[in-house]
Amino acid sequence: MTKTLRILVIDDNPGDRALVIRQLQREFTELAVEEVRELSELENAVAAGKFDLVITDYELHWSNGLEVLRAVKQRYPNCPVIMFTNTGSEEIAVEAMKSGLDEYVLKQPNRYIRIPIAVRVALERIEMRRRTALLEIRLQGLLDQLKVGVFRFNSLGIIESNKAFLDLLGADSLVQAQSILPLNLQESYSQLLDMSQPQQQECEVELHRPDGTLIWVLISVTSNTIEGETVVDGLIEDISSRKQAEIAKQQLNETLEQRVSERTQELESANRQLAVTNEKLAVVNQDLEEFSYMVSHDLREPLRSITGFSTMLLKNEGKPHVKQEEYLHRILASAQQSNKLIEDLLSYSRLNRSEIEMRSLNLSLLIPEILWQLDSTLKQHKAKIILNEPLGDVRANYTILTQVISNLLTNATKFVAPGVKPQVRFRTEPRGELIRLWIEDNGIGINPEYYKQIFTVFKRLHNNDIYPGTGIGLAIVRKGIERMGGQVGVESELGQGSQFWIDLPKARK
Ligand code: ADP
Repeated sequence: MTKTLRILVIDDNPGDRALVIRQLQREFTELAVEEVRELSELENAVAAGKFDLVITDYELHWSNGLEVLRAVKQRYPNCPVIMFTNTGSEEIAVEAMKSGLDEYVLKQPNRYIRIPIAVRVALERIEMRRRTALLEIRLQGLLDQLKVGVFRFNSLGIIESNKAFLDLLGADSLVQAQSILPLNLQESYSQLLDMSQPQQQECEVELHRPDGTLIWVLISVTSNTIEGETVVDGLIEDISSRKQAEIAKQQLNETLEQRVSERTQELESANRQLAVTNEKLAVVNQDLEEFSYMVSHDLREPLRSITGFSTMLLKNEGKPHVKQEEYLHRILASAQQSNKLIEDLLSYSRLNRSEIEMRSLNLSLLIPEILWQLDSTLKQHKAKIILNEPLGDVRANYTILTQVISNLLTNATKFVAPGVKPQVRFRTEPRGELIRLWIEDNGIGINPEYYKQIFTVFKRLHNNDIYPGTGIGLAIVRKGIERMGGQVGVESELGQGSQFWIDLPKARK
C-alpha cells in the first residue's frame, strides 16, 4: 500500500490552487491536498502538521511566500517547500533559497508541468537527506560500539576519534590520547603525504596505558583527502590475545623441540645401554661355558685323588700299608681343597644375587680391620704392611669390599718368591668422582699377557703344590667391584711385583 502524499497548497487565488491541484493529481494517485486561503488556515495547518510538503504562492494578500517558508521551516525544518509564483525576482529567489526553499516554479502556462517534477525532486531529496542522517547515526553508533579505535589526524594532531579509541588507550581526551599513542603523528603524516598514491601503513607495537597495563596493538593508517585537505585515517586494534597465542605457540614449539631432543637422547642412551648389556651377555655366556668346563675339571681333581688313594688303601685291606698315613693325609687335603672350592664358588655365586646396600666406608678404618682379621696368616708370612694415610672414603658394600681387599691382600702375601718377606703397600689417589685404591706387592709379578685372564674363574698361573689356591679369588674381586659400580685392574711385570688397583665411587659428603 502506497502512502498518501499530503500537500498543503497555499494560494489566495482559487484558480491557481485548482491549477496546482490538477497538475498534482495527474502525477500522484494517492494524494490529499489541504487548501490554505488565509492566515488562520495556515496557522491551523502548521499547528496540526499533517502535511508532507508545502506549495506556496509568493504574493498573498495576507502575507508573502518568504514568511510562509520561514513559518513552516521553523517548525518543520525537513519539510520541503516549493514556491509557485509569477512575481519572483532574483533577489527573492536567493533570499528564499537561503531560508531553505527547496524548489522554485514560475507561474507561467508552460511551467505548470514542472510542479509535480519539483514535488518529486524535493521529496526525493528530503528522503535522501533522511537516509543519510539515519546512516550517519547508525555509523556513529557502530563506531562507538566497535572494539576498533578509529581516529583521524592532520599535520597538527588528532582531530577526531570514536569512543573505542579513547577506551583502548585508556585516555580521557584526544590531547592525552596523542601522548599515549605509540606513533609519531607528524612523521607518519609527512610520509603518507609524500606518497604518490594513497597507501596503507601498518605496525604492531606495545602500548603502555596510563593505568600501567601493557597491551599489544595493531595500528594501520592511510591518507585521505577530505574537502581538499589531506588527513590521515587510522585504526587501532587490541591484538594482545593473538600476540599471547603466538608467544605460547612459539614456546610450545621450543619445548616440543627440546622434548623431542631429550627423547632422542634417552633413546640413544637406552640403545647404548642395550649394546653394553648385549656385550655383557656375550661375555657372561662365554664365562658360563668356561665356568662349566672349569668346575667339572677342578672339582673332579680332588675327588679323583680321594678316590685313587682310598682305592689303594682298600686294596691293602687288613694289611698295614707303608704309605697309609701319607695316603690319608692326601685324602684329607683333597677333601679340604674340594670344600674350599665349593665355599669359594658359593661366595662367587652369592655376588650375583639380591640387592646390595652401598654406604660410605672409611678405608683408613676398614683396612686395619681386615688386617686384624687376617692377622695369623700375615704373621705366618712375616708380611710387612704399609698404609699411605689418609686413604679416604668410598661408597661401597661393607661385606663385598672386605672380601675383595682380603683376597687381594692374601694373594699379595702368597705370590712371593721363596725366602722373600712379603711387603704390601696400600695407597689411594683421587680420579674425578672415583677413588683408586692401589695394593702393591713385592711378589713374583704377572706376565702382562695374563692381566685379563687372571680375573676369570679358575684361571691360575701357578701349580697348586707351590702356590695353593682355587683360582676363584680374583674372579670374586672383579665381580664384587663391578657390582659396586667400580673397576679392577693390574699393572705388573714378571719378577717386578704387582700393583693391583680398584676404582670405587667417592663417598658423598
Ligand atoms: P688363587 O689365588 O686361588 O690361585 P686367584 O683368582 O686369586 O686364585 O688368582 C688367580 C691367579 O692370578 C693366581 O693363581 C696367580 O697365578 C695370579 N695372581 C694373583 N695375585 C697375584 C699376585 N699378587 N702376584 C702374582 N700373581 C698373582
